Formats: sequence, structure tokens, C-alpha cells
Amino acid sequence: MSMNDDKYFEAYNDLEVHHLMLKDHPRTQAYKDAIMRNPSLFRNKIVMDVGSGTGILSLFCARAGAKKVYAVEASTKMAKLCQEIVKENGYEETIEVIQDQVENIQPHLKVDIIVSEWMGFYLLHESMLDSVIFARDNFLRQPEGILFPSHARIYAAPCSLSTLYKNDINFWDNVYGFSMNSVKNSMMLSKVSKPQILDVASDDILSEPVVIAEFDLAWMDPYDLQCFSSRKFISISKTGKHHGLCIWFDVDFRFDHYQNVTLSTSPMAPSTHWKQTVLVLPSPSDVEEGDILGWEMTFKQDDKNKRHYLITYGGLDPEIEDHPMPCCCQSVRC
Ligand code: SAH
Repeated sequence: MSMNDDKYFEAYNDLEVHHLMLKDHPRTQAYKDAIMRNPSLFRNKIVMDVGSGTGILSLFCARAGAKKVYAVEASTKMAKLCQEIVKENGYEETIEVIQDQVENIQPHLKVDIIVSEWMGFYLLHESMLDSVIFARDNFLRQPEGILFPSHARIYAAPCSLSTLYKNDINFWDNVYGFSMNSVKNSMMLSKVSKPQILDVASDDILSEPVVIAEFDLAWMDPYDLQCFSSRKFISISKTGKHHGLCIWFDVDFRFDHYQNVTLSTSPMAPSTHWKQTVLVLPSPSDVEEGDILGWEMTFKQDDKNKRHYLITYGGLDPEIEDHPMPCCCQSVRC
């Protein structure tokens, strides 16, 4: 286990983190619906829950009729609690808790379904998807095995940040009758230098969202996660202040002939603990309905800590033929 992994799993010893996830109703209910509304997918099947935490997804699978569920959890404290929760609910015959990183399990297990809640901020923060792909390649029966969720997409749209500007930036213009520009500038710098995790109001989204990355979990390669870029031109659908770029994701539980479910973290959907991820621009601009706006964005797994990404964002000038270079550039580590 690397130093980064030690810290990562330690963070999941914190019960507040699990409380936050369980009480995130759109999240937990989407998994419940996807599993419990499709009992024929689970009946008599062998399931692996990658990163079981409290065991909630394993319990849904057992209740839906799974024959056996391997609940794999690396955090020692959570694996122990998961074992107790399984017992408390009378599922110890069905659910077997394995306290280990999924990467350390001997590849003798073969399962029909992999269930996991691996998503982080902007989908990929924490890079837990790499572990799910590892589990797919080592434990999932091929070709009939399935992944739950099955597909994921990252979206982006330019946005205003009316609340952030009002509360955190323009606040410094008038503090009991005094201006505090130096604080305003330094506050702005801190907002620009790191992606912000915020609930963006749907009214603040300035265009139709565009998909900037799409993953089919059954087929994707871990290399797809190391680095990818998106170059887009969008048409502004709402006149306003362009303060930033709003990023979010959704995941699908999508199987032919079954009830499909989508878990969305869009500003237009009920709020989740992931909120949205915002790249705040150093200088806002006014945009009008019909304006064309372009950008190039690159996500690159950080060499020093692959659970983090380096996100590079550059505006593209739609007037310049074949757009050779972004006309302004911003790099943020998160
Ligand atoms: N499935 C639970 C918890 C999701 S949080 C729920 O939906 O509420 C992700 C969990 O996965 C954490 O408890 C973390 O410790 C665990 N985890 C992350 N990577 C793992 C890995 N490679 N092997 C085993 N457990 C892992």
C-alpha cells in the first residue's frame, strides 16, 4: 500500500463520510432502485461489492436475491463494522466480508456482477474506478458478467457564480463602509487556483451541457483514465456573466430488457454530496445569447498522486481558423 493509499483508506475510517453518503438520497436510492427493481438480474448470482463501506449495496443485492455477495473493504474499521451490520441483519450466510484491497485478493473468485460506488468529485477524483476495472479484469465472468453502474459521462457548461461572487468576492467591496481589495484579490486567487465544489443553481448555467468524456465500464481501458482531452464549441443560451466552467457527471445502470436507472449530479437534478465542480475563471466576461464559446480541457492523473488530477483549461477563440492553441490557459490540481 502506498503512502497515498494509507491516507486514502484512513479517510474512510471516518463514520461521518459514510453518514454523508448514506443520507445522500439521490445517490443511495439510485443504487437501491437499480438493484431492487431488477431482482431477476441478481437472483442466484454471485456479486462482488468493491469498497463495501457499511455494506449497504451488498445488503441491497442480498435482499434482491443474490446467492453470494463478496463485500470487499480495505478500511479495517469499516470492514469490521460491515461484518457486524451484515450479522445484525441476518445475512451472514450470503454476504462474506473480505477485509483487503481488491487488488490483493487472489484471482480464484469468479463473480457474475460487480457493484461499486466508486465515483468522486467530477467523477474521477480518488481514481477508485481503476480498482473497479482491476476487479472486472480479474474476477468478473466474461463475457456475460456485468458492472453496476455500467456507463458514466462527464458534462460541462459555462456558468455564472452569482452566490460565490456575492458572498465571497464582492463582499470585500464594502465591509461596514470600507473596501478590502487586497483580501478580495487574494480570495479570488484562492478560488481560481483550485476547483471549487459548489452547488451551482440551474439558473446560472449558460448553455446546453456538453459531454466531455464518456466511459463504457465493460470495455474501457485503465489507460483511458490517465489522460484525456475535450475540445468544444458551444452556443450560449442565456445572457449573463461568464464566471466559470461547471463540471458534473452521471452514471447509468443500463441493461437491455431491464429497468434502467440514471444517477445524475447535474445542477438541474436534486443536489447530491458531490455537488458540482467549478473551474473559476480569473476574469469574468459578459456573454450574450447566441455567442459562441470554445475551450480545450485536459484531465491528467497526477504523477505524484494518481488519486488526484491536473485539470488544464484554456479558452479557444472561435474567430481563429483551426484553433491551434488555447488563447488563455489555467491549470488546477485537485
Ligand atoms: N459502498 C459504500 C461505500 C462507498 S465509499 C456505499 O455505497 O455507501 C467507497 C469505499 O470503498 C470506501 O469505504 C473505501 O475504503 C473503499 N475502497 C476504495 N478503494 C478500495 C479498494 N481498492 N479495495 C477495497 N476497498 C476500497
